[in-house]
Amino acid sequence: MRKKIVAGNWKMNKTLDEALALTSEVVNMVNDEVTGDVQVILCPPAIYLTTLNKYVENSPKIALAAQNCSDKASGAYTGEISASMLKSIGIEYVVLGHSERREYFGETNAQLAGKVNIALENGLTPIFCCGESLNQRQNEDYIGFVKNQITESLFHLSEEQFGKVVIAYEPIWAIGTGLTASSEQAQEMHAALRAHIAGKYGNEVADNTSILYGGSVGAANAEELFASPDVDGGLVGGASLKSRDFTTIIKARQ
Ligand code: PEP
Repeated sequence: MRKKIVAGNWKMNKTLDEALALTSEVVNMVNDEVTGDVQVILCPPAIYLTTLNKYVENSPKIALAAQNCSDKASGAYTGEISASMLKSIGIEYVVLGHSERREYFGETNAQLAGKVNIALENGLTPIFCCGESLNQRQNEDYIGFVKNQITESLFHLSEEQFGKVVIAYEPIWAIGTGLTASSEQAQEMHAALRAHIAGKYGNEVADNTSILYGGSVGAANAEELFASPDVDGGLVGGASLKSRDFTTIIKARQ
């Protein structure tokens, strides 16, 4: 059975005090209100991970993710954070290939393959982001484009390694724009990606792969999006900065 997951990507938001307040609120709401089987993942800025780990360590439903890691093991890479550093402070997940990192920091499918490798070598679970731009959706084979992102960054993995990866489909045109993919659009892509995975690794691996949807998921649309059979949860940006909205989204997935 694949995991149901709701992850909150805070991006570059929140001061320390704000981060502590938001985490406390989410921990309390999840502990009090979430009864079902859903993995909640908070993705704060890396500088807060050590501190926030203490806030979530007694809440088994909640884990932490970094928003990125280096594709290098260690060395003279000023400003970078390695997978082994994240592991050493008790982090379980790492978001890789977010469209903002692809766009603003030039991350390529090949470089992301390296990041996925080093994350897995260090026992981190990659949350691998993929998705097409509006131009690609309107003018190109958008499903083929997203499948190719997965092929180039993930299909070198062994079956066992691939089994540890979480996929997040995030159409770029829906991220932070208030435009959400319809549940039909999300289901179409998720089903196509699951079939693509089945073609490479077989039905069992594909059935066990969690594929999250991301792109303006909010308290009002989460339930409808999560009702699609191949949508296993969400990667949530803006709405994860508000504890009540984020908890409503988590409850829609449990
Ligand atoms: C994201 O950053 O991954 C995201 C989906 O953002 P938003 O929910 O704000 O569109």
